[in-house]
Amino acid sequence: MQQEKIPTVIITGAGPGGLTLYHALMKNKDKKEFNVKIFERESGPKDRWQGYHIGLSTNGVRSLLNCIPCSIASSLPKAMPNPIPDEYHGYAITDHMGNTLQKPPSKQVKDIYELAKNPEDHLFSTFITYRDRFRDVLLEGVPVQWGKKCIGYEETEEGVWVKFEDGSQEFCDILVGADGINSSVRKQKVPQLEVLEFDATIVTANLLTRRDMLVEDRQTGNILPRSKGLPLCFGQ
Ligand SMILES: Cc1cc2nc3c(=O)[nH]c(=O)nc-3n(C[C@H](O)[C@H](O)[C@H](O)COP(=O)(O)OP(=O)(O)OC[C@H]3O[C@@H](n4cnc5c(N)ncnc54)[C@H](O)[C@@H]3O)c2cc1C
Repeated sequence: MQQEKIPTVIITGAGPGGLTLYHALMKNKDKKEFNVKIFERESGPKDRWQGYHIGLSTNGVRSLLNCIPCSIASSLPKAMPNPIPDEYHGYAITDHMGNTLQKPPSKQVKDIYELAKNPEDHLFSTFITYRDRFRDVLLEGVPVQWGKKCIGYEETEEGVWVKFEDGSQEFCDILVGADGINSSVRKQKVPQLEVLEFDATIVTANLLTRRDMLVEDRQTGNILPRSKGLPLCFGQ
């Protein structure tokens, strides 16, 4: 009997999306096996500051835990602040006077496992992770090929040739462009797709605030700065 060929998947981009997909494909090898290769334009894990925080919501955590193996899940606390019993995780958008414009219902949770079990009416509950540490955890055990900027691809009858800036190319059966908002893969595949600017600027700040500077609005349950005029997040 002829043995089935194991398809090769190439992922361009080792951000949260590409790395999570890598883990999901590996975790489900027993259902369908792929050779998976992942390429990243950065020269190494510390090449670029990854940004500040990334908040995980209920649906996000549920999906993440489905995709990653237990070994990575058990490392996730390294990417999160130590749970402090009365630490408030969640978000509210206020105007410059501290009046709440939007505050999705959220339930306080002590860790991501509790967050994943949140009821359906609290899907906006959020748990903060440090973006760089979160990526470091997702990178554990992943053989990323660094310094490989994808500049395009060529589809043939047999599969896809992926082209890199250094002049090299790699062959695969399936190419996944997980290369972010300016994805070169998307630009080639769907050139008509435009990234729209909404002429709006949002500045978000995470502030460490002493408990006695916060007050709970009894009607709404919102946690707000005690003195008006302490914006946590504002838009224009
Ligand atoms: C200020 C801000 C705050 C945000 N906060 C949240 C939040 O709290 N929660 C949330 O879920 N989302 C948040 N987002 C959105 C979040 O950043 C994205 O959802 C997330 O980063 C997407 O992950 P990704 O892996 O798809 O893309 P990216 O994180 O953009 O990763 C893409 C990767 O591909 C690499 N790459 C790019 N081009 C190439 C190429 N040509 N060849 C090879 N590699 C390439 C990049 O170097 C990068 O490593 C926020 C975004 C911003 C800007």
